[in-house]
Amino acid sequence: MKKTDKKLSFREKKIQDIKRKLIQQKDTLLSEAGIALNALPDETIFPELGDQASAEIDRNFMLRLKGRERQLLKKIDEAIEKIDSGTYGICEICGEEINIKRLEARPVTTMCIECKTEQEEEEKLRER
Ligand SMILES: [Zn+2]
Repeated sequence: MKKTDKKLSFREKKIQDIKRKLIQQKDTLLSEAGIALNALPDETIFPELGDQASAEIDRNFMLRLKGRERQLLKKIDEAIEKIDSGTYGICEICGEEINIKRLEARPVTTMCIECKTEQEEEEKLRER
């Protein structure tokens, strides 16, 4: 059952790359929001942020972020969480694996291309 004994698959490796990118993106977002990460004690700097403390810090960060950034940041956090729990890259509509190329291009996506397209079609219909 020990997952660490197993060699990472190609997909898993790619997902770890994506995680690194997401953390970088989060970093960039936060610094753009004028939040100096080096103003925080060392232990609280992600990626290995603790749960309780990070939730508290996140809340403070969120207050300083604009709506759009906040949304994106939330998505990034959710994606990182999913990567950690091993549920990343699964379409939340149909439960199929999302193509790794799509994930690389759009790491915060939670839908496969088929479901996304379908959803967009429906939205278009509703707008009419
Ligand atoms: Zn799907």
